[in-house]
Amino acid sequence: MYRTHTCGELRPAHIGQTVTLAGWVQRSRDLGGMTFVDLRDRYGITQLAFNMEVHPELCEQARKLGREFVIQVTGTVVERTSKNYQMDTGEIEVVASSLTILNASLTPPFTIEEQTDGGDELRMKYRYLDLRRPTLKNNLILRHKMALETRNYLSSLGFMEIETPFLIKSTPEGARDFVVPSRIHHGEFYALPQSPQTFKQLLMVSGYDRYFQIVRCFRDEDLRADRQPEFTQIDCEMSFVERQDILQTFEGLTKHLFKTIKGIDIGEVPRMSYDDAMKYYGSDKPDIRFDMKFVELTDIVKGKGFSVFDTAELVVGICAKGAAGYTRKQLDELTEFVKKPQIGAKGLVYVRYNADGTLKSSVDKFYTEEHLKDWAHHFGAVPGDLMLILAGEKDKTRKQLNELRLEMGNQLGLRKKDEYKLLWVLDFPMFEYNEEDGRYYAMHHPFTSPKKEDIPLMDSNLALVKANAYDLVLNGSEIAGGSIRIHDKKLQAKVFEVLGFTRDEAVEKFGFLMNAFEYGAPPHGGIAFGFDRLCALMGGSDSIRDFIAFPKNNAGRDTMIDSPSSIDPLQLKELGIYFNK
Ligand code: ASP
Repeated sequence: MYRTHTCGELRPAHIGQTVTLAGWVQRSRDLGGMTFVDLRDRYGITQLAFNMEVHPELCEQARKLGREFVIQVTGTVVERTSKNYQMDTGEIEVVASSLTILNASLTPPFTIEEQTDGGDELRMKYRYLDLRRPTLKNNLILRHKMALETRNYLSSLGFMEIETPFLIKSTPEGARDFVVPSRIHHGEFYALPQSPQTFKQLLMVSGYDRYFQIVRCFRDEDLRADRQPEFTQIDCEMSFVERQDILQTFEGLTKHLFKTIKGIDIGEVPRMSYDDAMKYYGSDKPDIRFDMKFVELTDIVKGKGFSVFDTAELVVGICAKGAAGYTRKQLDELTEFVKKPQIGAKGLVYVRYNADGTLKSSVDKFYTEEHLKDWAHHFGAVPGDLMLILAGEKDKTRKQLNELRLEMGNQLGLRKKDEYKLLWVLDFPMFEYNEEDGRYYAMHHPFTSPKKEDIPLMDSNLALVKANAYDLVLNGSEIAGGSIRIHDKKLQAKVFEVLGFTRDEAVEKFGFLMNAFEYGAPPHGGIAFGFDRLCALMGGSDSIRDFIAFPKNNAGRDTMIDSPSSIDPLQLKELGIYFNK
C-alpha cells in the first residue's frame, strides 16, 4: 500500500496513529536538529518532521530532498507545537520513521505555489506542473462539480446524455469548420462539429425528447483573447415544448448550479427583449449588475446650433451617479477612451451636475443652464451626478455608449466579481444583413424558428422578422443561447431559400435533416451553455483558459505538445494530400 492517508486528511483525531503518506516535496526547511518537509498531493499539504537525534540518517536523507521529489513517508501523527490554523492539517505533523524516494525531480522551472514566479508562456509549456498549483487545481475541482451537478440535475428531470459523433459533415454555426482528411476516401473530409445541433434535432425526431450532452465543440474562428478553438458546451434539446418550458427548465439548471456550487439563491431571472437590450444598454448581453440605463435626448437637444447633435440620428447618454467630481483630466481620458479606434466615437459631451446644484457642460456655448436642467430631469440626475452623452448614427452610437457604460461601471466599482446577475434576452432578430456580401445570414442558426406571428414578414421585410431565440446572460457575458426550432419542412426550405441556398445546395448540405423532417418531427427546441465560460464566471475569473486542463494559448497553439505541427510526408501521402512547393 503506497499510502494510508492523503496529505489533506490528518487532524488532531489522528494523533498517535502510524500513517504512510505519499506525495511531492513542496519545500523543506533545515533547522539543524530538525528538518521539516511540506508534502503535497492534490488534497493538501502535510508537514513532515525529521529528527536528527532520533533518526540521523533519515534526517540527512530528508535534507537532500529537492523540490517536487516524489516520496513516501511513514511516521507518527503528533500535535504541532506551533500550530498553523490557516492549513487544514496545520494542527498536526508526521514525525517520520522511514522515507522512500519514489522518484527524483528536476528543479521545476517555476515555483509551484499560489503566487508563482512563472510567466504565462513558461507555465503553458509546463502545464502539467502548473496544474499542481492550488489555483488551477481548485478551478478543475469546480469544473468537475459543475459537470456532476449538471448531470445529476438534468438526469433527475428525465434528460438522457447521448453522445453524438465528432467526425461529421459541416454544420453551419457561423464559424469555419476544422476538417479531417479521410485516408480511405482521398479528397474527402470530415468536419469536426461546431456543435451537435443537427444531431440533437435528429434525436428529437427519434423520440429522445429530453437530451443533453456535455460535449466538445470545435470552431476555427479568428483568434481573440480568451477564445478556444475547442470548447465545451452543455448541449440540450427538448421535444413538445414552447419557449417558456425551455426558459423554465434551464433557469432551473442555472439556479441549481448556483445553489449547489456557490450557495447562492439567484431568484427569478428577469427577461428583456433584444430591442430593449439594444435601446437601454446598446448590447445584446447587458451587464445588469448596475443600472446606468441609456437615456435618449434626440428630440430635446436639436435646434440650438450645435451641429453634432442637430445632424445626429441619435443623441443618447448615461448618468454616472456621484461622478460629478471627475476632474478635467479624467473627462479627457474618457473622451480619449470613446475615440479609440476600436470604439470609434467622434467625441464625448459631458454635463456635471455640481453638488451646489449648478450645471456645467462641455457644450455651454449652445445650451443654457435651463436646457441642461431639462436634460438632467430626463436622466433623473441629481446634484453630484455626471451625464455623458454621445451622438451619431443609431446602432453605432449605442454600441459606443455600451463600451462607455461598461467602462464607467468598472471605474465606479459597480461590476463586482462576487455579485451575480442573470438575464434572459428574448426575441432576437431572425436575420442579420451583411453589408460586405449583400445578403442575410441567420443570426442564431438556420434551424431557428421565426416567431409565428412574423412568418408572413418573411416575404416582405426580413429585417423585421424576429426569431424565437433566447440568450441567457450572466454579468454581461452570454452563457447560453438557443431557440425553438423549425420542425416543418416547408418552413425550413423557405428559410434556406431566404439565406440564399439554392434548392440543390440545401439538399446537398442538409438533405438528411429535411428528409428526417418528413418522418414525424415533433415540435422541439433547445439551448446550449458555454461550459468553460460558465465555470470561469462561477470561479470569479475572466479567463476560460484557467478552467480548462489543457488549453491552447491565444495563438491557438498547444505549446506543451507543440501543436499544430507538420506531419510526416508519408502520412500526407497516405491521406492523398500533396502540397505544391
Ligand atoms: N447549437 C447552438 C449553439 O451552439 C445552441 C442551440 O441552438 O442549442 O450556439
